[in-house]
Amino acid sequence: MKVLKFGGTSVGSATRMKEVAKLIGDGEQKIVVLSAMSGTTNCLVEISDYYYKMNITGAMEKINVLVAKYDDVIDELYTDEAIKLEAKTAINLHFEYLRSFSKSTFTLFEEKAVLAEGEMLSTTMFQLYLQELGLNSALLPALDYMRLDKNAEPDMVFITENVKKQLELIPDNDIYITQGYICRNFYGEVDNLQRGGSDYTASLVGAAVKASEIQIWTDIDGMHNNDPRIVEGTKPVPVLHFEEAAELAYFGAKILHPTCILPAKLANIPVRLLNTMEPDAPGTLISTISKKGKIEAVAAKDGITAIKIKSGRMLLAHGFLRKVFEIFETYQTPIDMITTSEVGVSVSIDNAKRLDEIVNELKKFGTVTVDKDMVIVCVVGDMPYENIGFQAKIVGALKEIPIRMISYGGSNYNVSFLLKATDKKRALNALSDALFN
Ligand code: ASP
Ligand code: MG
Repeated sequence: MKVLKFGGTSVGSATRMKEVAKLIGDGEQKIVVLSAMSGTTNCLVEISDYYYKMNITGAMEKINVLVAKYDDVIDELYTDEAIKLEAKTAINLHFEYLRSFSKSTFTLFEEKAVLAEGEMLSTTMFQLYLQELGLNSALLPALDYMRLDKNAEPDMVFITENVKKQLELIPDNDIYITQGYICRNFYGEVDNLQRGGSDYTASLVGAAVKASEIQIWTDIDGMHNNDPRIVEGTKPVPVLHFEEAAELAYFGAKILHPTCILPAKLANIPVRLLNTMEPDAPGTLISTISKKGKIEAVAAKDGITAIKIKSGRMLLAHGFLRKVFEIFETYQTPIDMITTSEVGVSVSIDNAKRLDEIVNELKKFGTVTVDKDMVIVCVVGDMPYENIGFQAKIVGALKEIPIRMISYGGSNYNVSFLLKATDKKRALNALSDALFN
């Protein structure tokens, strides 16, 4: 069985939904994970914001905007009047539910319930459309199997057991439609897998049912070898190792949610990135296979701050790094990149909210320097250290660019550079010229 996930733009209009239905109607058994229609989750965030501020009129106005949008989609999507009516009735119940929050106090708990409505709407509508087409399909309710444990991490044991149980309740369907993103937490309350989490749902469901493949359908033809917004002539990378894809997802390739790969990787299930607008394009296949010795892609992560701590006391002292890291731990700030020398250490962070407090504490251990407005440029590929020449090639490409930090050796799949944001465009283009053109 395959698991296919379609993102917000892929189900963003009646026309797009019809395209998706064509893509999945081949009679092969599959689970289809859907996001909310594009723009809906953002709108639900705004609605929640009005509820928090007790601005009921604001919330109602936003809900009405959504209602109008969904009415249009319904009118366009169905031809069968009975099904159209069924869709209208079902959708109205969801909007009534959204309106009902005007009568209660609004907390994080209510907000999560509101945010879950986007995927409830898209799946309800799409399932009814498949019904109109006469396809053999059923809804597989995510809230009945997708669950977080007490650390707010997906509970793989629960998920595996319950996905199977739910599937057994509705056997013999070709297509199972399920909601991405939404889940229940350890206490059984409605929750979610964080923004963009539908990819994660697909990966978790794929791992739970031991799918033969997980397909992530978006509006781009795979992961590109450089940032198409900045560099001209980028190309999709046909084959990537799980590790390469994870690095790229984390360091900027927006196509895939970074945490999404892990369950697929652990269950060794290939992930294919495909384009709904161009369904025959090969896309990107992510698996345990990499092209030996090949540099595959370049990505950049913006908004980075570098912090250097220089200390005479670091020389030969054990425990120095621990003390430094503990400060970042205390202020709940993850570190991206690290480089060390015998007298100092530089780290980079992408969340500078607690920067002042961190710097203040670090000053107890040495002299601290901060560089703001930096970017991490990372080069990804199969680069075991026994291979020669790849570092020279990469560094050579950047010979005209001032580099604040260089990191290689954390994995065989990544060489990272920290440089000024103002040099990003030049660096990405220079790397593309040297490595891919
Ligand atoms: N609808 C959710 C969001 O917009 C989840 C997703 O699309 O993956 O974040
Ligand atoms: Mg998405």
